[in-house]
Amino acid sequence: MNFGGYRNKVAWGDLTTGQTEFKPSDEEDARKYIGSRGLGAKYVFDNGPQVDPLSPENILCLMTGPLTGTDVNLSGRIAACTKSPLTGTIVDSHHGGWSGARLKWAGLDGIVFKGKSDKPVYAYIEDGELSLHEASDLWGKGVRDTVKALQEKYGEKDVSVMTIGVGGENLVTFACIMNEHDRSSGRGGTGAVMGSKNLKAVVVKGLHADRPLPFDKEAFKTAHANGLAQLTDEDYVTSPKKGGLSVYGTNVVMNLTSAIGALPTRNSQSSFFEKHEMISGETVEETILVANRTCHACMVACKIEVEIKEGPHAGLRMESLEYESAWAFGANCDLDDTAAISALIDRCNDYGLDTIETGNALSVTMEATERNLLNGGGLAWGDSDAMLKLLDQIAHREEGIGEDLAKSPARAAEKWGAPEISMSVKGMSIPAYDPRGIKGMGIAYATSNRGACHLRAYTPAAEVIANVLHTTDLTDPLEWEGKGKLTVIFQNVHTMTDCLNICKFATFSENLDAFAEQYAAVTGNPMDAGGLLEVGERVYNLERYYNNLAGFGEGSDYLPERFLKEPADGPGSKGHVVELDEMLAEYYDARGWVNGVVPESKLKELEII
Ligand code: SF4
Repeated sequence: MNFGGYRNKVAWGDLTTGQTEFKPSDEEDARKYIGSRGLGAKYVFDNGPQVDPLSPENILCLMTGPLTGTDVNLSGRIAACTKSPLTGTIVDSHHGGWSGARLKWAGLDGIVFKGKSDKPVYAYIEDGELSLHEASDLWGKGVRDTVKALQEKYGEKDVSVMTIGVGGENLVTFACIMNEHDRSSGRGGTGAVMGSKNLKAVVVKGLHADRPLPFDKEAFKTAHANGLAQLTDEDYVTSPKKGGLSVYGTNVVMNLTSAIGALPTRNSQSSFFEKHEMISGETVEETILVANRTCHACMVACKIEVEIKEGPHAGLRMESLEYESAWAFGANCDLDDTAAISALIDRCNDYGLDTIETGNALSVTMEATERNLLNGGGLAWGDSDAMLKLLDQIAHREEGIGEDLAKSPARAAEKWGAPEISMSVKGMSIPAYDPRGIKGMGIAYATSNRGACHLRAYTPAAEVIANVLHTTDLTDPLEWEGKGKLTVIFQNVHTMTDCLNICKFATFSENLDAFAEQYAAVTGNPMDAGGLLEVGERVYNLERYYNNLAGFGEGSDYLPERFLKEPADGPGSKGHVVELDEMLAEYYDARGWVNGVVPESKLKELEII
């Protein structure tokens, strides 16, 4: 096993004692799990599935992969891996920008925090060393003020700040970790785990000049050029020449999903938002877009910076008007005002709250209000001022509705006597795809290891948007047959790229051979497409095994009843429900699982036990 691209050094910080130990990667683990999500999952697994997520015994891993920071295309990401306080499952949640690359340049592959500090602290990493510093003066500050204070101390150049806001401090179960560019490890409550440890921030200083060099420089030149050629092919959505992501950002799909009846609207009571154009990427581009931003080593630049020039939110400038967030506060809450949506996203970012889960918290409250479940209080559809106020109540866990929702929208709906109005799986709320209009999303949500999520298996790439990975033809989004198998392929592919820590958008254009070629050139270890897929399958099964041991057995792969019993009303999907049982049978067969449980034979076959 060669360690090209790695630093072969992980910091294990004990926040209870203040001591840090530095360990090399275990060769066997690096071979089997590669890095990032894979190694993080292994560490979380070894720490035990019974741990209370918000206890000092839980660990929080911030992990890079072997390609991170090596100038491989779209390789600037970092994974936060832990046990989720939102779902009780294992969770990994990634963000872009420069945090991952700088951690690698600073001399570490990752950091594992355990224990709990007796007072607020932040960690500072430079030149392969980690030090802890008191952060009592930062506790209570929002993300922006925390970043500003730490950048005033350490400078902006070459410095990344990963921090929690008030949401994480208050242990809101869907608090996230934010960085200086408003990129977030958004889903699953990794920020609450950080808050439970009294860890306010992680500051990293790393210089590009200190990046690890590829094991084989000549092979890397070829592999890098091959990957870039695929990414910039005019036929694919990642190409700046074609537009798409590079012009409109991820919100390029808003009009598309609504047109095919796959845009969850008013808490999924409808699958079509009649005002979708008002909040689409095209409208944003015409009205408030001021810049296209990017992450380390990425020419796609899908990040949309907007500026609000008039009205009550005039002066607001922010970098993260993403499709998911625009949907969460837009169609999902019946709001068609991009300025108000930007303000909601911006406040969420400063509190350090997952915008998808927060949008669902608001939409669940709106439906509960409509059904008179809240004894007179509540929230009207599309009332942006009241939405902003409720967001404050959630972040501060104000007694009553704020406290109820801070525990999670699913738990709140249950408390209010209507669990069926929570559009969630395993306690995590859905993102912006209605599975009645894109059937693959139904089986993907149901079987995702971290709850309802589009990023474990982004099947719309093969059902609606692109001929992904050059390997699959577009399939009919309303056909269920084949979607179980398709989801297995996507889960394994996305898990593999998460282990390498490559942005998922690369899989829209680069094929598996291109990833294998780059891995081999950087690390010095032979690799092919099959070998990478095997790692993806192994890690996905390890995560599922963890969940099985944590109590997620038979019956844990389900969907909200609404998607199974209430037919879609959107123009493209009218009359459709999700054929979950049929897809689950196909999926389990393809996985070799028994009713959602990984059998011992599979664990042995994949060298997990
Ligand atoms: S495609 Fe977007 S999210 Fe991915 S690395 Fe590039 S800018 Fe970042």
